[in-house]
Amino acid sequence: MTHTHVAGSIHADATSRAPGWLALPDDVNALLPRLWSRNVAKDDDGVLTVAGVDVAELAERCGTPVYVVDEDDLRARARAFAEAFAGWEVYYAAKSFLCTAVARWVSEEGLGLDVCTGGELAVAQRAGVDLSRVGLHGNNKSLDELRQGLTAGVGRIIVDSFDEIGRLSALAAELGVRARVMVRVTTGVEAHTHEYIATAHEDQKFGFSIAGGQAARALQACADAASLDLRGIHSHIGSQIFEPDGFEVAARRTLRLHAEHARATGVELPELDLGGGFGIAYTSADTPADPVVLAGALRRIVEAECAAQGVAVPHLSIEPGRAISGPSAFALYRVGTVKQVLLDGGTSRTYVAVDGGMSDNIRTALYAAEYSATLANRRSDAPPALARVVGKHCEGGDILVRDEFLPADVRPGDLVAVPASGAYSRSMASNYNHVPRPPVVAVRDGEVRTLIRRETVEDLLALDVG
Ligand SMILES: *Cc1c(COP(=O)(O)O)cnc(C)c1O
Repeated sequence: MTHTHVAGSIHADATSRAPGWLALPDDVNALLPRLWSRNVAKDDDGVLTVAGVDVAELAERCGTPVYVVDEDDLRARARAFAEAFAGWEVYYAAKSFLCTAVARWVSEEGLGLDVCTGGELAVAQRAGVDLSRVGLHGNNKSLDELRQGLTAGVGRIIVDSFDEIGRLSALAAELGVRARVMVRVTTGVEAHTHEYIATAHEDQKFGFSIAGGQAARALQACADAASLDLRGIHSHIGSQIFEPDGFEVAARRTLRLHAEHARATGVELPELDLGGGFGIAYTSADTPADPVVLAGALRRIVEAECAAQGVAVPHLSIEPGRAISGPSAFALYRVGTVKQVLLDGGTSRTYVAVDGGMSDNIRTALYAAEYSATLANRRSDAPPALARVVGKHCEGGDILVRDEFLPADVRPGDLVAVPASGAYSRSMASNYNHVPRPPVVAVRDGEVRTLIRRETVEDLLALDVG
């Protein structure tokens, strides 16, 4: 009786404070496959495994926190985009996560690479990928970065301001090269998750406004510059997009501009880029589309619009980042403290503090992003408790997973894994509180390989030369 009562009260606790999208799990040990990379499973003891490697052993060997990449999964996602969008160019958006190994993997799977700083370009150069298949983005590239791009021979530079058009044309003339450029436009479409706004305020730093007429003028300025080879229009509408509707409106507006430019100059630009932003599953509430479905929708949209505008279909490209790197990796943490925090109404929340936090994943604090988590080192028979996974930083907002059901007996020493941590986690990591950034390890066929080693306090102290 007592036990039933206790379980009942935990149940009431848990569900009353859980957000609407978070269902009480039947089995709190179970993995929701769509949140995890293809080679992740739990063994009979409830230990998380990836490509045959037990994460409890991996944590002993590599320490925690650690980002664990399922190499086979990342490659398969890159390949799936290349195959689904056959005939188009697929550029992997390096800002989601970049190191030399990943640059090589995506390149081996047939993808180009998008970089947006000299640092990202340096990784591509070190990786030895084909630089003619690298695009250089950024709203404020320095003269040095533009020079680095031109001398490296990047395939295209996406220009973002009149200042840059002037700067780049002068630099290209000085270097005696013709720079291939695309013009980044803002379409007035802004997409976030399941919703998009077709009349988004264009009050933002990126691109030239189509509605305001700057985009047409920027195209003309590039067309007029002898040292620039204008390839086409570039549009990127946002991130974590699940429906093609936003792309449809953006494609219609960019193709209208493309057709107007053709009528004004007699030249149909050969290329068009529709950007990235394809959504992934962070929680049970997210239902991302398959690349094949996306590709079909985008092809139909572009063909219909080109027919309507009476122009040939240009050579198209897209730039997925998160959809390739995100689901392929999880972050693995060790629990240090567990606290029951009483909330009003007599309920409570279990705060599970781990050995990382906002320095290795800022997205929850920065974007109110939602994540999921699972107990990774054992099976538990305890009932589910509504938990919040928090970090070790000196901030109340240092939250990794806002709401998740974890076994009520989660305790210090346990391992917690957070799926979909491959994109914008390590790449946005900081040294807040002088915390060294975690390593990235790749697992394939039972083998663990370090891609980025763990930073050390000595690394940080070495910067302090005062
Ligand atoms: C960030 C970005 C991308 C990739 O976005 P994801 O959401 O990771 O797919 C693609 N293109 C541009 C220009 C970007 O800024």
